[in-house]
Amino acid sequence: MRVEVINTGTELMLGGTVNTHLAFIARELFPLGLRVQRQVTVPDGEAIRDVVRDTFGKADIVLVTGGLGPTTDDITRDIVANLLGLRLEHDGEIWRAIEERFARRGLKTNDRVKLQALRPREAAVLWNPHGTAPGLHFPALAEKGTPHIFLLPGPPRELMPMVREKLVPILAALLPHGVRHGMRTFRVLGIGESVVEESVGESLLAMGLEVGYCARPGEVDLRLIGTADALDRATPLVRERLGKWIFTSDERELPEVIVEKMTALAKTLAVAESCTGGFIANQLTNVPGASAVFLAGYVAYANAAKTAALGVDAVLIAQHGAVSEPVARQMAEGALEKSGADFSLATTGIAGPGGGSTEKPVGTVFIALAARGSATLVLREKFLTDRETFKHRVSQTALDLLLRRLDGRDRAAAGEDAKV
Ligand code: ATP
Ligand code: MG
Repeated sequence: MRVEVINTGTELMLGGTVNTHLAFIARELFPLGLRVQRQVTVPDGEAIRDVVRDTFGKADIVLVTGGLGPTTDDITRDIVANLLGLRLEHDGEIWRAIEERFARRGLKTNDRVKLQALRPREAAVLWNPHGTAPGLHFPALAEKGTPHIFLLPGPPRELMPMVREKLVPILAALLPHGVRHGMRTFRVLGIGESVVEESVGESLLAMGLEVGYCARPGEVDLRLIGTADALDRATPLVRERLGKWIFTSDERELPEVIVEKMTALAKTLAVAESCTGGFIANQLTNVPGASAVFLAGYVAYANAAKTAALGVDAVLIAQHGAVSEPVARQMAEGALEKSGADFSLATTGIAGPGGGSTEKPVGTVFIALAARGSATLVLREKFLTDRETFKHRVSQTALDLLLRRLDGRDRAAAGEDAKV
């Protein structure tokens, strides 16, 4: 089944709204074995006509989002009916549902609202309990070579439940029963995508899997698509060759993995942040249930704050500089002490663009991991990038350092193994 998605909306073309519908729809359709083969975004209005017509004979399923509302630029319904040579008629049942919705809110309907109750008798209604305009399904017409066309509402809170509850079951019924493909993603941290491919690429392709690599700052996703059987055969191979770099084999982010693992181990964490400015604490507290694990975050940016909040020795700062191995160590140990946590992480670095020296160029960062009853580990790294990505890379490296300790696969200390 060839699927095409048409997203309509002038705001999508002006940069005011990010097109999240495509990603959402693609994810919801995948478990059915369906993949979007083409997607087009057009502004509101007449432009929709050409792109819908263009799918005839090329697609089996066309999903059009947006433009079902009551304003003059909402003309998706008219255009599609017109293209298929169907006549729009007032639908009493849709109209009653709209009237009731307005009455519940104490609002008055008008003629423009009434347009949303129009449908050709050939199209089926996808009821919309979250909004006014229902979705419509125009079944494929073999004689005209037209695909199944689904009109879906633009507002995400209306579209999402309609896709899950109405569209997916209809598509499932339209599909021939065959072998469904699954997807497994291994998330790798610390080696580049070429190394990942070199280690497993050929073997995975030989197993009949579709293999994808998606590189992100500091991370690589290895995505496998294939039958459940092939995925199960591939998993031990991937684990054997890349196991020590994999931090998760599902879609979870590093902070989620940490919170879950520490919750299971009943261990707690504090962070002392200078160059990351609270970013690590932010990432951790975005995870539901973080309170079971996360005790405190200290943002100690100025030298005086490092001394006052974390007990870092002012003489040490004067001797070695705030961005140094001993200061990172004392920050982590201070956070451990002050919070009473089992583990702590500390960051101190030079994000740039100013502030670098020959000895400590821009991008230099020290990341420390302290834990009760064991020696503090300090890692020296260099991330030459913009300030935001710098924070992300430092945070990621710090969390990875902790995860490795929890998993018993520690990295070596600063100087010995600074680069992977
Ligand atoms: P309405 O009755 O609100 O007019 P509609 O079906 O005509 O509904 P639109 O007017 O196209 O839908 O969009 C309504 C809202 O949904 C807008 O806030 C818009 O930014 C948002 N929206 C539309 N399309 C998308 C998309 N592809 N991704 C994310 N948001 C979207
Ligand atoms: Mg609209």
